[in-house]
Amino acid sequence: MDTDTTTAVLILLGPPGAGKGTQARRLEERFGLIQLSTGDLLRAAVAAGTPAGLAAQTVMEAGGLVSDEIVLAILRERMAAPDVKAGVILDGFPRTAAQAAALDTLLAEAGQKVTAAISLGVDDAAMIARVAGRFTCARCGEGYHDTFKQPAQAGCCDKCGGTEFKRRADDTAETAQARLAAYHAQTAPLIAHYRALGVLQTVDAMQGIDTVAQELGSIVSRVSA
Ligand code: ADP
Ligand code: ADP
Ligand code: ZN
Repeated sequence: MDTDTTTAVLILLGPPGAGKGTQARRLEERFGLIQLSTGDLLRAAVAAGTPAGLAAQTVMEAGGLVSDEIVLAILRERMAAPDVKAGVILDGFPRTAAQAAALDTLLAEAGQKVTAAISLGVDDAAMIARVAGRFTCARCGEGYHDTFKQPAQAGCCDKCGGTEFKRRADDTAETAQARLAAYHAQTAPLIAHYRALGVLQTVDAMQGIDTVAQELGSIVSRVSA
């Protein structure tokens, strides 16, 4: 990252299914920020069959957390690209205390810090239902849900008109339980870390997608002003 202190670094914190990806895409469109999802980066590494991808695949399928070493390596590489100067929304990173500490160090080296960490709160039961019903457009990646967000015209993506959709191998009710346990054990404690840094914001993510988007938009407008 460069040393421009106006570069926003926003973190979306929340369990699987909280709406991090959905909301990160909205913020990207509205504020011109760059969505940086370690889940997407890891899935790309798995698809490309890189050594990191091969090591990550079994862990991801079981709903565990990929090692800090692998995640930090792909995150550092992505943060070095020039487009992130527009400001970033970290979606699904950091997920452990070690990742949070590494991010603080990486940013400090560039004279930066976390602008805001926004915690998206959802009930455990809702999280399982959201993950189990999730699917995305195979062409543009727009997210959908069997119950909560179907395409306006069945079988046709609202964004790009694509007709192919896909589901993630790890979006089953069983794996969701393991991912939820990993969230509570390793990621939820980061809420206290960001509260102590004075950058924590919270949004009730049990509300509808548009309401959550409005509240996030107000926070982002305020903190990046
Ligand atoms: P979700 O959107 O459901 O929270 P992600 O796409 O963010 O899921 O992540 C999918 C999987 O990728 C996780 O279950 C985990 O195995 C791995 N993963 C993603 N980000 C991280 C991270 N920061 N640290 C460790 N593992 C990660
Ligand atoms: P995350 O990236 O945090 O794992 P997603 O953004 O992929 O979560 O959302 C999980 C699923 O829940 C998707 O199918 C999405 O369409 C749906 N969803 C997201 N936000 C909401 C919401 N506020 N209310 C109902 N469903 C939602
Ligand atoms: Zn599409």
